[in-house]
Amino acid sequence: MIIAKTIAELQEAKKSLRQAQGTRGSIGFVPTMGALHQGHLSLLQQARKENAHLIVSIFVNPTQFLEGEDLDAYPRRDEADKKICERSGVDILFMPDIDSMYEKDELCIGAPALRGYVLEGEKRPGHFDGMLQVVMKLLNLSSASKAYFGKKDAQQLALVSQMVKNYFMDVEIIPCDIVRDENGLALSSRNVYLDAQQKQRALALSRSLKQATKMVMSGELNVETIKKEMRHVLDEVDEVEYVAIVDRAFNDLKEVEIGNSIILVAAWVGKPRLIDNLWI
Ligand code: AMP
Repeated sequence: MIIAKTIAELQEAKKSLRQAQGTRGSIGFVPTMGALHQGHLSLLQQARKENAHLIVSIFVNPTQFLEGEDLDAYPRRDEADKKICERSGVDILFMPDIDSMYEKDELCIGAPALRGYVLEGEKRPGHFDGMLQVVMKLLNLSSASKAYFGKKDAQQLALVSQMVKNYFMDVEIIPCDIVRDENGLALSSRNVYLDAQQKQRALALSRSLKQATKMVMSGELNVETIKKEMRHVLDEVDEVEYVAIVDRAFNDLKEVEIGNSIILVAAWVGKPRLIDNLWI
């Protein structure tokens, strides 16, 4: 595995990879912010299987954190992450510093007015602008033909797919299933902030999604009725930020459309803000 810390090192590494293998085989790319867990690992495994080469990036992108968010406290596990990547068959691990990625007066792209400013975009205004800015850079740098994103960040996935479509970018965005722990808690780098008792209370998120599925399966399709019941289940969290049911393009729904809906929840439990969702 080659560890590239600068853009020049990344370009050099891509060149030597192709030369060594005597091929221009497909590149799979997995962008991350590190503190890798099984959720990330499942993306790495899928990308490894489907491509000749695998590039992973670890970059805690400052422009997607809002004032007062946990940028400085975001968990960093560089040495452990390097080992995980090495063991997962990563060819190039790209770990740039901030100055390699940004200059002072940047040209920026923005999240779309409607889909980019509801739910996560409403609660974290500007977050998606920063996310799209860095993902555009990383996709271009990776020269990947396929890039892998978790459904865990469903709105991010939808916006990245829209960016690729709107800017005619030559990369396929592959959605990957959410990985959960044995109790149903969606894995997240921020789960390290949870103590045992909070972890228990955090299970309310996935439980509310299960309850919603149960209602849909028994014929209840009314969005307001389902959301009301979900809020009951979410009693144990400190604060619910939103409960929503939208179609796969993030348009509001009055009734669940089976096969085209996403049920989402965001809530605070102790220090972290947690998100989870279910595609139905
Ligand atoms: P992050 O490091 O949190 O920016 O995540 C990097 C990628 O891993 C994103 O595409 C996430 O959606 C994905 N991811 C994070 N947690 C999970 C999970 N529990 N299951 C599947 N994908 C995940």
